[in-house]
Amino acid sequence: MVVLRGLLVILIFSLTSCGREASNSTPSPLEEWITATDRIRVLSTTAMIDDIVGRVGKDRIVHIPLISGEIDPHSYELVKGDDEKLARARIIFYNGLGLEHGASLRYQLESHPHAVAVGEAVKSSDPDQIIYVDHQSDPHIWMDIALWSEIIPSIVEALSIVEPESRSFFQANGDELQSQMLEMHKQVAQELQQVPEAKRYLVTSHDAFNYFTRAYLATPDETTQAEWQIRFEAPEGLAPDGQLGATDIQQIVEHLSLYKIQVIFAESNVSRDSLKKIINACQRKGLTVTIAQGVLFADAMGGIGSGAETYLNMVRHDADVLIAAWQ
Ligand SMILES: [Zn+2]
Repeated sequence: MVVLRGLLVILIFSLTSCGREASNSTPSPLEEWITATDRIRVLSTTAMIDDIVGRVGKDRIVHIPLISGEIDPHSYELVKGDDEKLARARIIFYNGLGLEHGASLRYQLESHPHAVAVGEAVKSSDPDQIIYVDHQSDPHIWMDIALWSEIIPSIVEALSIVEPESRSFFQANGDELQSQMLEMHKQVAQELQQVPEAKRYLVTSHDAFNYFTRAYLATPDETTQAEWQIRFEAPEGLAPDGQLGATDIQQIVEHLSLYKIQVIFAESNVSRDSLKKIINACQRKGLTVTIAQGVLFADAMGGIGSGAETYLNMVRHDADVLIAAWQ
């Protein structure tokens, strides 16, 4: 028993980067996650998934995101301690649709017996909603609240398989959350649709806002006629890689000029280098374009005090930033 307890302490210390004293202090979420024995231990790759999972499972699960803070989920590779988290998780939820393409993480997800790709589940149940860019599925489905609510059934199902006696509890939580998400979706759409049509052209660093644009910025006609793409442009592709050629910049400058766009938006976890290059190219052409004050959140939720600490607040925050800049 003493030996077992000793091993557990070593494990906690190996998994926590800060090495904080475990005694006489409130356990960190990670410590609580590791030591919980009476709740389902769930790991999600991104904070956007983890937030939804937490609201479906409530106090019958312990849950943490693997990728937290402002780290890019597209290229995330496993770091020290991640193997243990992946091994100890009873269920792993990940986005799929090509999001987690770092080789070490992708291998673990594809080989884990209890990994559920929530985005792939949406693709199976609602294939017409998936956007493709250069023949690749766009993974950023969380940027459309109504579409993101479609991950709930796969989460309810996976939790219920592990704990069948809680199925009605998970289902009721999922139903309540879905109503709340659909309500927020409607509200964000209504507010953004009140911005004059001529201003609703979004330019950011990378291709994270296709779903957002289709859901909230396009006119109803553009959505039904699949012409909503004109309202969104980004110099970097589906994953922000900083590889920017002269043609990419030229294309964005032409787009800005064509639609008389005067403000472009930075993303919280993407370098502003590409946006600065665009601003410089615009200046050389005599176009006045600036980077908006507020920062958008797309691939990562915000930290404490950002106003984007939860999934719904993150999308709400982005809508507020756009509305303020387009006034
Ligand atoms: Zn992204």
